[in-house]
Amino acid sequence: MLRRAFLVFLVGVVVCSYSGGDSARAAETSPGDPVIKKVAALAVPPRKGAAFKNLDPAYKRASYFARLHSFIVGGTWLVPERRVSALPAAVPDLQALRDNHHEATVTWIGHSTLLVQLDGVNFLTDPTWAGRSGPFSGLVGVRRYTPAPMRMEDLPPIDFVLISHDHYDHLDEPTVKRLAQLYNPRFVVPLGIKAWLADRGITNAVELDWGQSIAFKGLTIVCTPAQHGSGRTLVDQGRRLWSSWAVLGSQRFYFAGDTGYYKHFKEIGDELGPFDLAALPIGSYTPRETAHPVHISPEEALQASTDLRAARFIGIHWGTFMLAREPYDEPPARITAEVARRKLDPEVVWIPKPGETLPW
Ligand code: ZN
Ligand code: ZN
Repeated sequence: MLRRAFLVFLVGVVVCSYSGGDSARAAETSPGDPVIKKVAALAVPPRKGAAFKNLDPAYKRASYFARLHSFIVGGTWLVPERRVSALPAAVPDLQALRDNHHEATVTWIGHSTLLVQLDGVNFLTDPTWAGRSGPFSGLVGVRRYTPAPMRMEDLPPIDFVLISHDHYDHLDEPTVKRLAQLYNPRFVVPLGIKAWLADRGITNAVELDWGQSIAFKGLTIVCTPAQHGSGRTLVDQGRRLWSSWAVLGSQRFYFAGDTGYYKHFKEIGDELGPFDLAALPIGSYTPRETAHPVHISPEEALQASTDLRAARFIGIHWGTFMLAREPYDEPPARITAEVARRKLDPEVVWIPKPGETLPW
């Protein structure tokens, strides 16, 4: 128990402290690289030295001490009996996913991982198939309690992968390496992550700043702001950019990554909306004093969906890893209550089962 506690403590120090190393290295370009365009009048991230900052001038992360204290005192690792159980899963129709070349669909794999199909193009958001999310390829870290509903090998061919930021639960090293081997997808990432991928032998990548876009197989992919942070070790905090993403084709999709609530949602909605589907995180919002700047609550997620002018909402980033301090099944209950309070149509707010495919 002590050994385990120490390991998790170490992970906590690493995970909770946030920042970035090889990151600020300039991106290398080669003739095969896609043309990067500035399509959106969106803000660029402020910078301080080698670190990226958030847009909100009043943004203030809880102190390092407060985060460490919260981690040690309130950590899920201190409460081994903390109740979690695997979410009931749906069995995905693998053949239908492979045969689908027209319909827009979304399948929740778990946490922030979605398989999205749009205009015959298949892509993943923040893919993780990890059984444990953390450093050393998941040797230590937070346990996954809801298994992925399908194997990476059973996915339809993946054309591209969106990464929102470098935290372990969003950028899983074994997962991205395996996906690169299986499908050689184009990794579309925020500034700084291209070099991280290249260091691991993954070279089919393009990195973008907020407001930059590329065209890919008939779709336009736009890097959009988020309010969060980055870092995988004590020394790389803020060095790689964090972002959300818009994918525009015959329909318009938005992926929020990890984020606190800020006016960037409204600005993205005004500039690139309305969206047909917005994927927003609904878990990891406690303890509020440390989570608030960097993680939206379920209620804020619904407000963000309105700001984005999204016709449909899908709640993600919950029910998968032992990351959150709130009861594991609280986010959907709070969404349901907020949908009723706001008199929203429950049909357009989706909290799918892992493995469930929805047309949008
Ligand atoms: Zn994060
Ligand atoms: Zn996260």
